[in-house]
Amino acid sequence: MADQMSYDIIVVGAGPAGLMAAWKASKAGSSVLLLDKKERIGAGPHPADTTFEGMFKITGLSLQKEYVIHRLRGMHIVSPSGFRIVINSPGFAIDRAVFDGYYAGIAQDSGTEIKTGSRAIDLKLGDETHEVTARENNGKRSYKAKIVIGADGIESSIAHWAGLKSMRHPEEVASAVQAEMIGVETEYPEYFQYHIGRSVAPGWKATISPKGDSKASVAAFVRNTPRPAMEYFNQFVYKNRLVSHFFEKAKILDILEGGDPIATMPGDLVKKGIMIVGGAGGQAGLPYGMLAGIICGDVAAKAIEADDVSKKRLDRYVSMWRKELFSEYKTGYRALKVMEKIPDEDVDKMVKALQDVDVTGELSRRSTTFMKGLGIASLALRRDPKLLRFVKYLV
Ligand SMILES: Cc1cc2nc3c(=O)[nH]c(=O)nc-3n(C[C@H](O)[C@H](O)[C@H](O)COP(=O)(O)OP(=O)(O)OC[C@H]3O[C@@H](n4cnc5c(N)ncnc54)[C@H](O)[C@@H]3O)c2cc1C
Repeated sequence: MADQMSYDIIVVGAGPAGLMAAWKASKAGSSVLLLDKKERIGAGPHPADTTFEGMFKITGLSLQKEYVIHRLRGMHIVSPSGFRIVINSPGFAIDRAVFDGYYAGIAQDSGTEIKTGSRAIDLKLGDETHEVTARENNGKRSYKAKIVIGADGIESSIAHWAGLKSMRHPEEVASAVQAEMIGVETEYPEYFQYHIGRSVAPGWKATISPKGDSKASVAAFVRNTPRPAMEYFNQFVYKNRLVSHFFEKAKILDILEGGDPIATMPGDLVKKGIMIVGGAGGQAGLPYGMLAGIICGDVAAKAIEADDVSKKRLDRYVSMWRKELFSEYKTGYRALKVMEKIPDEDVDKMVKALQDVDVTGELSRRSTTFMKGLGIASLALRRDPKLLRFVKYLV
């Protein structure tokens, strides 16, 4: 039985990945302490607020009505000149305070002890146990555990203190600016809008996620550009001829800047008694981070049960995670690297070639991301064989 200051597992970071890891590990019988520097679970900033049913499904969890604030019919992928591909795939916007509170509740019900207002400031690695020191309202406190899970986001201190290079390409973190807006008059209140093209948002995307009642979160995500994300955000909202009229009467309620590890690729995630999960390990995206957290928490609890927290044992998390998701990240990473090279005129031509194609059907027929991409590429080529010249961007 663990005493007050000593646990089987400490999870640092109560975002989507950490909540899942803590829940799974405590459900499987481990004593778990979950620390977060935020004063309360679900407190902002928490940028990730939209996902799609097809993606959320990978978590194996059922969607809870209480945190869904708006239903989406799908998404539009929009080229710089306004050609658009419509993908009908249901999605939803979530209230993160309610979402985080819901999953914190099930973690607590399974036995996880949660401490908010507790910022990890040091990690000492030991032979049998590791020690996490946290700054709390009443001063510093130290906690010991056989396994420490770093779920502390893209600037993971746990990975740093443990000497793990948890992202292969940390320089590829996308800079993002996201605003919560009201008074947004989009023509497509049931569709997420995904605008691509170097002039719009080099390296990734500018997005509009409608949330009902004229609310939306609007964002620009950029990579490998000297200009700040805020410039692209302002240009998108106030100058982009395809969308600026949506925002004529809009007001910004809240705005935040952050980093998204979409193209960083997970690196070294495990060493003896240490596991890194979610954004901290380049496992970008809300449901993807949650699934990684589920696998991580499960493997951690089984390692405690077997009294073996060696790297070899904990590596089961990495191999299970790789089997589920690695190829998606690899395909996504390559696609973003290719997209970087494509001038806007060619993005227009590609999107135009797919405008009236049943992309939704093609996506649902294929199982892997790679096959989905291949299927769509072959549809585009059938419509416009001249697109074959774009193969040059793949090399
Ligand atoms: C602007 C923006 C918008 C995004 N939108 C979406 C979206 O709509 N859908 C989607 O799927 N993905 C989105 N993402 C990506 C998504 O945010 C991440 O993939 C996801 O949040 C990662 O979850 P996580 O639990 O790993 O980390 P985080 O959500 O970053 O949580 C980390 C937690 O650790 C805590 N923490 C950090 N350091 C310490 C410390 N030293 N001590 C204690 N606690 C600590 C933090 O307070 C935080 O609660 C977006 C990213 C950005 C930047």
